[in-house]
Amino acid sequence: MAARVLDGTAVANQIRAELAPQVAAFTARAGRPPGLGIVLVGDNAASEIYVRSKLKSAGEAGLRADLERLPASASLDALLAVVDRLNRSDAHDGILVQSPLPDAMGPEAERRVFDAVDPAKDVDGFHPINVGRLVQNRDALVACTPSGVIELLERSHVTIAGAHAVVIGRSDIVGKPMALLLLHRNATVTICHSRTKDLPAVAASADILVSAIGRPGFVTKPFVKPGAAVVDVGITSIADRETVARMYPPGTKRWETYQKRGALTVGDVHPEVAEVAGALSPVPGGVGPLTIVMLLKNTLAAATLRVAGGGG
Ligand code: NAP
Repeated sequence: MAARVLDGTAVANQIRAELAPQVAAFTARAGRPPGLGIVLVGDNAASEIYVRSKLKSAGEAGLRADLERLPASASLDALLAVVDRLNRSDAHDGILVQSPLPDAMGPEAERRVFDAVDPAKDVDGFHPINVGRLVQNRDALVACTPSGVIELLERSHVTIAGAHAVVIGRSDIVGKPMALLLLHRNATVTICHSRTKDLPAVAASADILVSAIGRPGFVTKPFVKPGAAVVDVGITSIADRETVARMYPPGTKRWETYQKRGALTVGDVHPEVAEVAGALSPVPGGVGPLTIVMLLKNTLAAATLRVAGGGG
């Protein structure tokens, strides 16, 4: 039997509809909309698409969203100056610095920039204060992708408490916060990574399997316990014919899309997994739309707290 689809677009629309009256009420109360400042450095094509989509969604939700652009040649100091200005701005409740930053800024740049964002405006949830609060299960601004996964699971009636959840990937922005959010909802959590021994067997013991590694089609049937809920966080654009054909052979609809566009956006999970999983999130249309809507939710939450605290 084919897996039930964990429909991220539908859940994101549901959350958007819930946010609309809250944004309107905030705007009426504060005399201004919640404000988001997005900083984009350089000209990474994928980042351009993500930022455009975040600006559009924020505008449609009634938020103020401003884009600050810096050239790829900008110095780290110039970027930190923009962050500092947004930290002090009354009109901006949330700040998002789009990653990745240009390599020329140096290996420590991302960490320094995320650390420089006012934790009260840290709508990406990357600041160590917010991460620490998450570890302790206190109120915090939490990274958008993993909190979106939780919304997707809960609103799709996947039981988390008592489940064995396996998270593949241990990055600071997805894997680790994902594991903590599942733990706080009383799952028994295992985190896997590139050094995990016999990963397929570990994954196949999961009731809930979340893959966040960025390896197209990596999770195949042997990784999945029959009936498990599988969430595919990975997003990779592939142009290589053989890799595409391994996931979506000629004759399938997605192969035709690849033929038309010359590239295809795919997840970590091979489509054959739908034959064994109980539920599966698609790529696209799974976690992606939730990441954006959680950014809007975090911005409204930050705005509400700032106004309540007399900060804007
Ligand atoms: P990342 O920082 O590159 O981390 C990747 C993680 O995957 C690392 O922990 C790495 O293990 C692990 N990994 C890599 N290859 C592996 C393998 N063969 N076996 C087991 N583990 C392996 O990536 P990220 O930022 O977390 O993003 C992960 C994926 O999610 C990417 O495809 C990204 O595009 C996508 N993403 C999607 C959204 C969305 O909105 N849907 C948002 C953010 C990210 P080690 O630590 O051992 O190296």
